[in-house]
Amino acid sequence: MARAALQVLAGFTLLFCSASASQDHAVCNHIKSQLGNDIVSPTESTYEALSTENWSQTVWAKPSCIIQPTNADQLSHVVSTVVDWGVEFAVRSGGHSVVPGAANINGGVLIDLANFNTVEYNADQQVAVVGSGLRWKEVYTSLDQYNVTVVGGRVLDVGVGGLTLGGGLSYLADLYGLVCDNVVNYEVVTANGTIVNANAESNPDLFWALKGGANNFGVVTKFTLKTYDIHDAWGGVRVYSLDALPALFEALYQYQSVANKDPYANIMLQAFPTNASIGAILNIVYLKPEQEPEAFAPFRNITPLADLTKLQTLTELMLAAPVPELTRVNWFSASFTNDKEVFDKVADLVSKSPELDDLTNLTAGSLAFGWQPISSSAVLAGQAHGGNTLGLQPVNQTWLVLDVGWWSPDDDELAHNYTSSIINKVNDVTKSKGHYLDYIFMNDAAADQPVIEHYGAKSVAKLKKTAKKYDPDGVFQDLASGGFKLP
Ligand SMILES: Cc1cc2nc3c(=O)[nH]c(=O)nc-3n(C[C@H](O)[C@H](O)[C@H](O)COP(=O)(O)OP(=O)(O)OC[C@H]3O[C@@H](n4cnc5c(N)ncnc54)[C@H](O)[C@@H]3O)c2cc1C
Repeated sequence: MARAALQVLAGFTLLFCSASASQDHAVCNHIKSQLGNDIVSPTESTYEALSTENWSQTVWAKPSCIIQPTNADQLSHVVSTVVDWGVEFAVRSGGHSVVPGAANINGGVLIDLANFNTVEYNADQQVAVVGSGLRWKEVYTSLDQYNVTVVGGRVLDVGVGGLTLGGGLSYLADLYGLVCDNVVNYEVVTANGTIVNANAESNPDLFWALKGGANNFGVVTKFTLKTYDIHDAWGGVRVYSLDALPALFEALYQYQSVANKDPYANIMLQAFPTNASIGAILNIVYLKPEQEPEAFAPFRNITPLADLTKLQTLTELMLAAPVPELTRVNWFSASFTNDKEVFDKVADLVSKSPELDDLTNLTAGSLAFGWQPISSSAVLAGQAHGGNTLGLQPVNQTWLVLDVGWWSPDDDELAHNYTSSIINKVNDVTKSKGHYLDYIFMNDAAADQPVIEHYGAKSVAKLKKTAKKYDPDGVFQDLASGGFKLP
């Protein structure tokens, strides 16, 4: 009896799946008949490369077709058509998210924003209008000719769209706030295909919601970003052996504990406890052409194995930063305030936990941690720019990220569980010492970390109200269901 019921259910599920697959193909053909060449189906030669363009193999997928609209009107048509047909979709900018389904999709339609790729600089208004499908390298190199820059990503291959909508951590953050704090206008295609501008005067609720609200409100075609007269800088990377970690943590603590830290100074420590041959890399950035400024004094007496700091442009500095090539990637984020004992305990956990041996035993298993100091000035600058959705506290803090890489799909769950176990221990320590911060940085968060929940009840309620207004049918919750969704 039970088996017969299951067979009926299985038949129904199969029928439903194939009906929905044929619906997906029908919508692809329908849009193709109208838009022509900007749609790539599985039989075409470019499909394989486009469907596997995402940074981590864990999120490669097989969409029914990949659509690359060339302007906002086309995008509007695509969004309203997939919504009318009830077809699931995902939106991709640079494809660096490690969240499965966020920026690629099995079945359904992948909307690839690669053709939103222009940068227009307006010197009078001191802004740049930046296409949402660009990588940061293209943005910075276009603006270099004017000797200006924007508050943007620190690694140049990463996409503008996802990084900005997740908040965005930049080397300019202590000075001007997060990337999202420096957006003055979003051009957005909403769920019913309407193209709207969201800024402080027009649709201010949507403007606010997009500052950390990810892909929950619409598809952004262009970001208007404030520009700043920053071009020449000093810094680069210093490489240390893992033995230098205790001294580096002592220096980090001193660097971060200064009451009024120089906001032109920025660092990020990356260490590779599972790979002693790489050791630890300190990224040092000073946003003026001044050698060895005082802010970095705590690091002076630690002798590096290699020192590549020099006077150069900020773009050159970021271009030279090493980026590891990994096949399968995940990452986890935790935040806490400054305290020497907490630093020491967290440093021990991320460099000596037994889970690191388990990770090393996976094929090509590795873990790197990134120690990202954020000053209270970054949060205050964001508030001065009108505020964002993130619920940050204006205190000096660290956003820790654990990056895990491995090779085999068979190890996906193990890699997740080992790293998740370390981040849980980190949170236990920071909670027990009263230094835990209830914030998970979306851009460094794993799929199962509850990011938006941690923005705080007030922020969540306002985000939900805004979503109800601009997307009453919940299209960006149900049809575009990948990524960090509203709780
Ligand atoms: C090597 C490396 C370096 C990094 N460095 C930094 C850094 O310096 N600072 C930082 O903050 N983060 C950094 N990150 C994290 C990065 O910000 C996130 O991975 C982010 O999601 C990448 O954006 P993307 O456009 O490439 O991603 P995608 O995978 O294309 O998109 C991520 C999410 O955003 C949505 N999305 C993208 N564009 C749009 C749009 N226009 N409209 C609506 N939704 C959209 C997608 O649907 C998806 O859910 C780094 C990541 C890597 C791999």
